[in-house]
Amino acid sequence: MKDLFQEISLPAGGSYKQPLGLFINNEWVASSSDDTIESIDASTGETIVAVQAADAKIDVDKAVEAARKAFPVWRDTPASQKRDLLLKLASLVERDAEQLAKVESLDSGKPFESNAKGDVLAIAEVLKYYAGWADKAQGQSFSPNPDTLTYTIHQPLGVVGCIIPFNYPLAMMAWKWTAIATGNTTVFKSAEQTPLSILFFANLAKEAGFPPGVFNVLSGTGAKVGDAMAKHLGVDKIAFTGSTPVGQLIQQSAAVNLKPVTLECGGKSPNVVFEDTDFEKAVKWTAEGIFNNMGQICSGTSRCFVQESIYDKFVDALAKHVEKNFVVGPPTDPNVKVGPQISKKQQERIQYYIQKGVDEGCRVVLGGTGLPDQIAQSDKYKKGFYVKPTILADITANHTVAREEIFGPVIVVGKFSTYEEALHIANDSTYGLGSAVFTRDITKAHKFASQVEAGICYINSSNLLDFALPFGGVKMSGHGRELGEYGLTNFTNVKAVYVNLGD
Ligand code: NAD
Ligand code: MN
Repeated sequence: MKDLFQEISLPAGGSYKQPLGLFINNEWVASSSDDTIESIDASTGETIVAVQAADAKIDVDKAVEAARKAFPVWRDTPASQKRDLLLKLASLVERDAEQLAKVESLDSGKPFESNAKGDVLAIAEVLKYYAGWADKAQGQSFSPNPDTLTYTIHQPLGVVGCIIPFNYPLAMMAWKWTAIATGNTTVFKSAEQTPLSILFFANLAKEAGFPPGVFNVLSGTGAKVGDAMAKHLGVDKIAFTGSTPVGQLIQQSAAVNLKPVTLECGGKSPNVVFEDTDFEKAVKWTAEGIFNNMGQICSGTSRCFVQESIYDKFVDALAKHVEKNFVVGPPTDPNVKVGPQISKKQQERIQYYIQKGVDEGCRVVLGGTGLPDQIAQSDKYKKGFYVKPTILADITANHTVAREEIFGPVIVVGKFSTYEEALHIANDSTYGLGSAVFTRDITKAHKFASQVEAGICYINSSNLLDFALPFGGVKMSGHGRELGEYGLTNFTNVKAVYVNLGD
């Protein structure tokens, strides 16, 4: 018999009962496979616990079957009850926010104070936001002529497979509750680096009172469990957040039953600073737009271009600001803004890119390869996955570091002279997720927002978030939208109905 729970101590004190199994039909069940997934403490490199990985056939089938059976039940649950259940779940998240944030911090290495707490409160908000839509699903009616009544109804798709990345484990999971708010049932797969917090959350979903099978959670690798979900004939849609190469695979796999997919993939978002900007504000938001969450932000504005007249001054001020405000250290330290990266693999990948930038002639203005000094000297943390916040200056559009997604605390900075050049550089990317522009000229700002090839444009800020607005990309950043009213359309079918009122 495999253990279904294990008592785990939290770094800031206290302990909790971590579920280890699969969450199917509101029950904790043992996996049919002997595979496990280890959650590693990114701040020390030590293993926290191993959870059970689902069997790609038996357990994926079981979870999909549970969701299929639950579908008519949930679809036909009155809208007001769906709303109330979502509100109840949000209130349980708020009740347990402190503990949930501790688990999220432990699982992912996010600083507890500056990231994990905010993430958890934000998932309560997004659940409340979608509770507000649950009872407002509306179609349209038309008036072609007196003999015909025509209208549309919006209906759930069925079983939605939701595949989650490591950078915002709880948040990316919660955004996909749109699926449940619109009457679908779900099978979620957590990222292999961060299996813990979503299992904790599953207990809350059960406590809230969602019918069995509405929300199922599997741990497992992408190659086995994720792939099986994408290819499953019993899955009606895949909602994926993750890297572009995996998004491409999922789109191919989904062809098996033509299931629709939404793909929230990678980015290399431009951050364009004009000379007429409010200088201090531009420095602050440029830093915020990439160094928050250890640079593990899909829409992070990692590719900065500054007008040449203020270029030197800007690079200098940015370095000073980042050094002062983005303190590196362990996630439990309340003064720390930059914790470790998610994994050894990511740490090495980011170091590879920093070195690549150096080799290609970029100037290291801040950071660089190697561990931050205080970490290198700490016996406890030196095996953690830390990277120094790094600024690589004097880049041109052709540098590798200006083209490929690094997904770490690294900003690359180059210069431009005219608006046309800035726009050209901004759009010279295979990606198109976020974008930011800094200027006091409202015409230039709105013109840029209109002309930039991106799903999102921030004017005089970066990476703000309002759940009422759609989130998603163009080009190889993916397609489909999450959040906002637009997000609903990705989880429903629209049906056209013709009523003959004549002969
Ligand atoms: P990833 O693509 O490696 O993994 C994402 C998820 O896909 C994981 O759950 C993984 O197990 C699963 N997966 C892997 N291979 C699979 C396969 N063959 N079939 C099905 N599923 C598979 O991404 P990651 O490293 O976890 O996250 C980082 C990436 O996610 C970055 O590129 C980042 O830009 C992107 N991201 C995008 C958004 C967005 O909204 N656009 C948000 C967060 C992260
Ligand atoms: Mn971990």
